[in-house]
Amino acid sequence: MLKGPFLDRNWMGQNPDYRSSDIVMIGLPFDGTVSYRSGSRCAPEQIRLASWGLEEYSPRFDKELAECNFHDAGDLEFPLGNTKASLKMIKENTAQIYSDGKKILGIGGEHLVTYPEIEAISEKYKEDLAIIHFDAHTDLREEYLGEELSHSAVIRLCTKFVNPANIKQVGIRSGMKEEWKFMNENKTLVHEYSELDCLKNKKVFVTVDLDVLDPSVMSGTGTPESGGMSFNELMGWFEYLKDFDIVGADVV
Ligand code: MN
Ligand code: MN
Repeated sequence: MLKGPFLDRNWMGQNPDYRSSDIVMIGLPFDGTVSYRSGSRCAPEQIRLASWGLEEYSPRFDKELAECNFHDAGDLEFPLGNTKASLKMIKENTAQIYSDGKKILGIGGEHLVTYPEIEAISEKYKEDLAIIHFDAHTDLREEYLGEELSHSAVIRLCTKFVNPANIKQVGIRSGMKEEWKFMNENKTLVHEYSELDCLKNKKVFVTVDLDVLDPSVMSGTGTPESGGMSFNELMGWFEYLKDFDIVGADVV
């Protein structure tokens, strides 16, 4: 027996046992519909590697990572170029996580991965499911270049399963006139923490498109957009979400 220690390629602090875990981190290395800069499919493994440079204690939340009982399941392996089959895989694996009584933490990949997650989770929570969406972009298009299955249409797609009254959007600063009309009509865009309070009795899925951050903070995104949040501003929103019933999340 070699003495080691050996480098673990999973996220630091994970529970190696799926069955006894409460949260399942799952890599979703899909960037098939990215319109500008591709490469986000390489993100899950890079994020894992970078995790080894972090401390396991968060002074901000006064919490140890070990207090979050999560299992890193690894990355799904997608049939390259086949969007529909990839989304089906995400939906099936998400459904399994929830039928096993656990919650998902998806690591993208691009934003379209959220659609099959929401489809699967809505089967469990029905009209109680709500979405809090952090992004630079509205992601409310009907289609992009004739394609309905696009990262830029993901929140619109999610309205098939979640009533717009239960969707709140934060940090949005780019979109088409029609998308802005949708946000105004449905009052989805919020600017103050307290505007989220109407979702406190809901089952909340938090989806974070990292381009919500300013490109000076987070430059390596598919479609960078100036005028974004600082890191601490985003953390302030996360801190406010401590009082919410979060049933799943992803970072794309
Ligand atoms: Mn997005
Ligand atoms: Mn975006």
